[in-house]
Amino acid sequence: MLALVVDDSRAMRSIIKNIIKTEGFTFVEAGHGLEALAVLETGEVPDLALVDWNMPEMNGLEFVQAVRANERFNTMKILMVTTETEFEYMSRALEAGANEYLMKPFDRAALRGKLEMIGLIAPTEIQDNE
Ligand SMILES: [Mg+2]
Repeated sequence: MLALVVDDSRAMRSIIKNIIKTEGFTFVEAGHGLEALAVLETGEVPDLALVDWNMPEMNGLEFVQAVRANERFNTMKILMVTTETEFEYMSRALEAGANEYLMKPFDRAALRGKLEMIGLIAPTEIQDNE
């Protein structure tokens, strides 16, 4: 599976990538929404986008709106990754078409849980190799 990791923090992108790599994802990445749209235009449609809210050039909400306006990306799940101060805006992101949200700071279990809820990975209890 392919994931698009969108965050203006390189450190946060690394944290996310390290977790999803072990869940079997390959990934592409971008530092803000505009860059992410450019990545989407040139490659295959990812199964998942993990999207920060607060970014320069184009924020997470604007990115979600742009993606959901394009039928080509209908199958791509969107997980918003947000801080507590951004949390009050989450309903707007969900209305715009985000599938779920994850609060920073988070750990592997929390991210796994969201991927399970979205239906991208199997629930932990039926995996036998961990
Ligand atoms: Mg940010």
